Amino acid sequence: MHSSQVPAEPSSASGPDRGPLLFDVVIAGCGPTGAMLAAELRLHDVRVLVLEKETEPTSYVRIVALHARSLELMAMRGLLDRVLRHGRRRPAGGLFAAIDAPVPEGLDSAHAYLVGIPQPVIERLLEEHAIGLGAQVRRGCAVAGFEQDDEGVTVELAGGERLRARYLVGCDGGRSTVRKLLGVGFPGEPSRTETLMGEMEVGVPQEEIAAKVAEVSRTRRPFWLRPFGGGVYSVVVPAAGVSDRAEPPTLENFRQQLRAVAGTDFGVHSPRWLSRFGDATRLAERYRLGRVLLAGDAAHIHPPIGGQGLNLGVQDAFNLGWKLAGQVRGWAPPTLLDTYQAERHPVAADVLDNTRAQMELLSPEPGPRAVRRLLTELMGFDVVNRRLIEKITALGVRYDVGAGPDLLGRRLRDIDVKQGRLYDLLHRGRGLLLDRTERLSVGGWSDRVDHLADPCAALDVPGVLLRPDGHVAWIGDDQQDLDGHLSRWFGEPIGLSS
Ligand SMILES: Cc1cc2nc3c(=O)[nH]c(=O)nc-3n(C[C@H](O)[C@H](O)[C@H](O)COP(=O)(O)OP(=O)(O)OC[C@H]3O[C@@H](n4cnc5c(N)ncnc54)[C@H](O)[C@@H]3O)c2cc1C
Repeated sequence: MHSSQVPAEPSSASGPDRGPLLFDVVIAGCGPTGAMLAAELRLHDVRVLVLEKETEPTSYVRIVALHARSLELMAMRGLLDRVLRHGRRRPAGGLFAAIDAPVPEGLDSAHAYLVGIPQPVIERLLEEHAIGLGAQVRRGCAVAGFEQDDEGVTVELAGGERLRARYLVGCDGGRSTVRKLLGVGFPGEPSRTETLMGEMEVGVPQEEIAAKVAEVSRTRRPFWLRPFGGGVYSVVVPAAGVSDRAEPPTLENFRQQLRAVAGTDFGVHSPRWLSRFGDATRLAERYRLGRVLLAGDAAHIHPPIGGQGLNLGVQDAFNLGWKLAGQVRGWAPPTLLDTYQAERHPVAADVLDNTRAQMELLSPEPGPRAVRRLLTELMGFDVVNRRLIEKITALGVRYDVGAGPDLLGRRLRDIDVKQGRLYDLLHRGRGLLLDRTERLSVGGWSDRVDHLADPCAALDVPGVLLRPDGHVAWIGDDQQDLDGHLSRWFGEPIGLSS
């Protein structure tokens, strides 16, 4: 079994070997995207099984950047304190193409900073969160095949075991088995430039390194040695000339490359981990085919410049979770699940584009260096600097939910409300009506949407409907209009729903 068939019209037929639908959703891959999705689904009591091919969580200690929008998501689900305990806060400046620019003024977020956190730690926090909410995670189980029909998906594991679920989501990374079996195209550009990245100790004083790095990085990119504390440095050098792509890089490879680029190997020793990555850039043609969906790196890959991949995947999961839950629970309007691709595909396309642009700006060629100088100058204008940071941090994302004020389709920042902080009211993953008129109602949707009357003076619109992902779905003061939008996003009201 290795193919997918898109089901035709639903029917009640059920094949003899299909077995019971033990799960609503099976997720392939327990990376950050899969774990976040599992947790989001559990908020709505969806029966979730996560299948992870590795027997142990990754020990690959790569520090990743969590950007403002992801920090907001963590705050919306009560995870931010845990993240901050394990990560290091940094200003959100200098993120675009590593151009040294200040933090722009007026970033519209209560969490306008960056948190550097080891990837295994954020993965563990998200997995614990999902398990705490009741998700099952089975390790050492690789998804090897699946078949979909009108009622569900039969998932086959590498050992031959078969499981039935209503939906399968491939969160299984850039080489996604699910995407390949689904036959979804993954167009884009292959890797052009390979880079070595690792963490290790150095044998020379910090001042000596800083001076040399400043001098070399004027002409050679990608190149950096950045201290992470405890004497450990993050080292990035071009891999050009390190021939065997199939073999993991060695410390000697790093020494050679450092000598070639900087004239010294800085006495590097005691590596924590060493890796090699390329700048392949690809985007899945579709995020959904029938009952099978894709999220995270399974749907998009791009160079790590700007540190956006994990953030993008976690944000995919946040967008998909409540919609898929609505589908499983039976209240989702017919088109809701399709808005996942409609909203997230363009966001990924934009991230791919900004990483393409950033990679060009790292080129040592005279043309790109001239463009870099020009952009550096332009980033002196706060509006330019802010626009670029809003791209990297995803604070600038606006979904097309229809014509209206600029806030429509955007996320609402975490504001003070009479009951505390706005994001604290979103922990359960439900919709929320903020009502300054005190005459609006969520009526028959009260099982899916909360109502907060007289929230705060800071809100300068009469009423706002927030989706479970914190994006603004409606602005206004008219009950009939609101009811139409409640139906659009949350289906039929109680009593009318079947
Ligand atoms: C050098 C480098 C630095 C980076 N820095 C940042 C950064 O600062 N910020 C940032 O946001 N991103 C960063 N990224 C990108 C980030 O690491 C990825 O985008 C992120 O890990 C994607 O998460 P994911 O859950 O979608 O996929 P993965 O993390 O790839 O997880 C996929 C999971 O699926 C499992 N799996 C695979 N196949 C199967 C199967 N058939 N069945 C079951 N399980 C399967 C895998 O074992 C894995 O656990 C960086 C990447 C690199 C290379």
